[in-house]
This record gives sequence, C-alpha cells and structure tokens, in this order.
Amino acid sequence: MTRIVLLGPPGAGKGTQAARLAGSLSVPAVSTGDIFRSNVSEGTELGVTAKSYMDAGEYVPDSVTNEMVASRLAEPDAEGGFLLDGYPRTAEQVAELDRMLEVRGHVLDRVVELTADSDEVVARLLKRAADQDRSDDTTDVVRRRLELYAEQTAPLTVLYESRGLLVRVDGMGDVDDVTRRLLEALDS
Ligand code: AMP
Repeated sequence: MTRIVLLGPPGAGKGTQAARLAGSLSVPAVSTGDIFRSNVSEGTELGVTAKSYMDAGEYVPDSVTNEMVASRLAEPDAEGGFLLDGYPRTAEQVAELDRMLEVRGHVLDRVVELTADSDEVVARLLKRAADQDRSDDTTDVVRRRLELYAEQTAPLTVLYESRGLLVRVDGMGDVDDVTRRLLEALDS
C-alpha cells in the first residue's frame, strides 16, 4: 500500500495528514501546492507562472502541473512509493498520472478521500490565512477554490470508486484521531 492519492477539499487537513502518513509509511509526501509555493518563493519561471493562478484560486494549467509531477515522481525516493497530496485534481491529471504509473509498471494502491464539513473547511482556511499569511486564503479566493474542487476534483472520487480504489475517511475532529483513522483505512 505505498502508492497513494489523498483527495479532499482545501482545508480538510490533507497537508498535515500527508506529512504524518508519509512518516509512518516511509514514503515521500508529494504536495503539488508545496512545490508550487517553494517555486514562488524562489522566483523560478514555474513559480512566476503558477503564482497568478494560485492567487486567483484557479488551478495551474494541467500541462504545467503534469510536467512538474512527472519530474518529481521520477526522482529516486519516489520509486518505491509516494503519497500524492493535491494531485490529481482534474480528469486530465488522472489520465496523465495513469500514464506515468503505467510506463513504470506501477499501479495506484489506494485513493483516500478526506471528508470535511464545508463550514468547518471555510473556518479553517480563514484561520490559516491569518496564521500563515497565505495570499490565496482570502474569502473570495477561498470560495473559488472550494467551487473548483466541487466542479472538477470531487467528481474524481466517483471515477476512483468505480476502479475499487476509493476509501473515505472522516477528516473532522482531533488530528491524532484522523491520522489513526487514515492508517486503519490504508491497512484494510
Ligand atoms: P494546495 O496547497 O494543495 O491547496 O494548492 C494551492 C494552489 O496550488 C491551488 O489552489 C492551485 O492554484 C495550485 N495547485 C496545487 N495543486 C494543483 C493541481 N494538482 N492542479 C492545478 N493546480 C494546483
């Protein structure tokens, strides 16, 4: 169970849980949001491209995102497994991930949907905006990110469910409890 996708709306706690799970499972957590953010702070060409989309709460174009993920997954530490946090987010990214795995003779083991109450998610995102000063956590942008998730990313759960890969885990409540539930779900 080492090639895992973590899905869930912004603010569900994916980043926190991905880091914890990666530690327990000894695989790297690959967060597209984190990779974009570090490119933004380093001022790379990729960062400059990504920033305008991120600040508006829009998805970075699939071609850019897919290329970035392909090169990250080609690194040696991801050969034995990975936990993807924040990717795939569109049907085109699902297809591209399938291709990336296929060329290496790999398959996904599990797709975990971390579920969250929408009022709670908005409250968490606005709190994070205050704590971390993220430029994409303002009210309008938060609304757009949730809208895009509902339109483009939530439907991916149906697709993965039809492949028999999906497990749903309640992301609400105590952080340690959520980690425990996730580990149990991945173990089953
Ligand atoms: P996150 O930290 O996962 O919420 O991502 C922050 C922002 O990075 C998103 O709102 C998007 O603008 C961008 N981003 C992250 N992952 C993706 C992806 N898989 N596809 C497109 N854009 C992404």
